[in-house]
Amino acid sequence: MVDVVVVGGGVAGLQAALTLGRAVRRVVVVDDGSPRNAPARHVHNFIGIPDAAPGELLARGRSMLADYDVRLHADRVERVVGSAGRFRVHSAGGASWEARALVLATGLVDELPTVPGVAELWGREVVACPHCHGWEVRGEPLGVLGLRGMPDRAVERALLVGHWSDDVTLYTDGDELTSVQHERLAAAGIAVFAQPVATLDHDGGVLGVVLSDGSRHDRRAVFVVTRQHQQSDLAVRLGCALTEGGAIGTDEVGRTSLPGVWAVGTATKPALLAIGAAGHASTVAVALHAVL
Ligand SMILES: Cc1cc2nc3c(=O)[nH]c(=O)nc-3n(C[C@H](O)[C@H](O)[C@H](O)COP(=O)(O)OP(=O)(O)OC[C@H]3O[C@@H](n4cnc5c(N)ncnc54)[C@H](O)[C@@H]3O)c2cc1C
Repeated sequence: MVDVVVVGGGVAGLQAALTLGRAVRRVVVVDDGSPRNAPARHVHNFIGIPDAAPGELLARGRSMLADYDVRLHADRVERVVGSAGRFRVHSAGGASWEARALVLATGLVDELPTVPGVAELWGREVVACPHCHGWEVRGEPLGVLGLRGMPDRAVERALLVGHWSDDVTLYTDGDELTSVQHERLAAAGIAVFAQPVATLDHDGGVLGVVLSDGSRHDRRAVFVVTRQHQQSDLAVRLGCALTEGGAIGTDEVGRTSLPGVWAVGTATKPALLAIGAAGHASTVAVALHAVL
């Protein structure tokens, strides 16, 4: 019997384990190694950690846990039975643990525009968040690619990215914009192309947005609109309530609707940057320790 099983070992899960480990708690972290930012070259905007690769940041985090009663297990949690005070957590590989409480730190996955090339370049030339990757391409020719059916989000993303560069082009990929949206974009100096995008390519090391008429626009980076989904359906299978937006619903200290199950990081608050996910996990772990 351990105090807590943490499901998910991204920044949030590892930080929850660190805070609980330092509170002399017995913890198991089960992680199957698919953090959302894995394709990115670097984690930016994380104070004290300049330009670490995502895998390097997590490896450093895991090595810090060796000082505490925290065990790491590389596997996927498939099933949880029991209730608060005595959960039994089963992994796909056949391991199982008994725990008094569960922390879900299972993160999100991004649904990307289906334009060919986007998935291949995702995390490097194609990114989503200018707060994460805008500084490195500030002042350069930038593109914004919408996710079909979500033109409002594409407009907001283009206006946001316009803060980092005076040369921003919005590709709506077939979505129509309203006259008010066109006026707002024109006022911000943002060009708009509404025809479908045929492909993004990176021929010769230059990122190109190729439109359906065959024209090619060279861009330094393209910021895409994405839709996020829970990476794991564990919370739903356990019976935890989700918010309207699909996040795991919690109270202000991280308790889900199911007694004994807590949740941290982007699974609960999709907009969190990495340091925010870690900070959230630390706060929730302090509250969980008090309850334990
Ligand atoms: C391309 C890209 C680049 C980004 N760049 C930056 C950046 O530069 N700076 C920044 O601050 N933020 C960045 N982000 C955001 C950042 O990725 C998130 O803030 C951060 O990953 C959230 O951490 P998390 O622990 O909540 O989730 P995740 O990092 O997604 O970790 C969740 C973990 O849970 C595991 N898991 C899920 N289900 C199970 C299960 N059933 N059993 C076992 N394990 C499970 C997964 O394998 C994964 O390891 C970027 C995001 C993307 C998509």
